[in-house]
Amino acid sequence: MPELPEVEYTARQVRAALVGACIIEAQVFWERSIARPDSATFCQIIVGRRIEGVRRRGKLLLLDLSGDYLLTIHRRMTGNLLVLPPGWRLDCHLQQQDRARWERLGPAFVNEEYQCRCQEPAQKVQEETLCLQHDQPFYCRVCFTLADGRRLLYNDLRKFGKLALWPRAQEAEALAGLGLEPLAPDFTNERLWQLLQGKKRPIKQVLLEQTLIAGLGNIYADEALYLAAIHPLRRADTLNFEEVAILRQAIVAVLQLGIEHGGTSFNDYRGLWGEAGSNYAHMQVYQRTGQACRRCGTPIQRIIVAQRGTHFCPTCQPAPY
Ligand SMILES: [Zn+2]
Repeated sequence: MPELPEVEYTARQVRAALVGACIIEAQVFWERSIARPDSATFCQIIVGRRIEGVRRRGKLLLLDLSGDYLLTIHRRMTGNLLVLPPGWRLDCHLQQQDRARWERLGPAFVNEEYQCRCQEPAQKVQEETLCLQHDQPFYCRVCFTLADGRRLLYNDLRKFGKLALWPRAQEAEALAGLGLEPLAPDFTNERLWQLLQGKKRPIKQVLLEQTLIAGLGNIYADEALYLAAIHPLRRADTLNFEEVAILRQAIVAVLQLGIEHGGTSFNDYRGLWGEAGSNYAHMQVYQRTGQACRRCGTPIQRIIVAQRGTHFCPTCQPAPY
């Protein structure tokens, strides 16, 4: 699932690639990918608008559009943005011929000239022309055609992600319920300390609550707790001020490291050009169950906290009991 670093990395790529681009066509292939308004109105409103800016809040990607509109993109499990250069053709024949496959795969993208960076000849895979070594089907749910011939695709294998279009006057509503922004200057030791007071749940669980801190998910919560040497089951309100200060620093450090490495790819996350992030190689505890702690050599353990797999070093992160 994309967390703050993956969304921030995408935001920077989209900003560099698409600010100034004008949307001339919008096609929705999976209606429920559009949270609001209905998909016909969504397409009608968005056509003709220019992408004026790109922002991020928590795990939400925000596109500022001309005429005071805001597009929010919540990628959830497997949502990804992809930019296709000009020259690709959409093939929607499955829509008529095979409804079940159409709903799973979306349209095919065809480009006879296509050559992967590895120079291997492309082949047809599930109706798409792809490189067998490097490409997967797109699972495109929404396609924006830009005035310069490029396309911005919203791809989502599992279809949990949501796009929503808001008049800018409703921005507060669009962002309602999001907690502290961990890379903003107001994410101070004092604010985090105040936030944890009275929270009797395990610290790991509290870190995942988007209404308290926006942007942390399972990977970076585990990594931050390891870096701060805090056991994931510690009751949040038992952390002393010094531990809170170290935890705050650790949260910021793991998020910034994740952004530097282009995000963590271990299943479906991809950058804007379909590339995988490299942060997985830098994980200290996440999905390293049974492997030696890089600090002390103790095997990393996995427990379940708030229904989420949680990884920690039992020596570096002493148990609270
Ligand atoms: Zn250790």
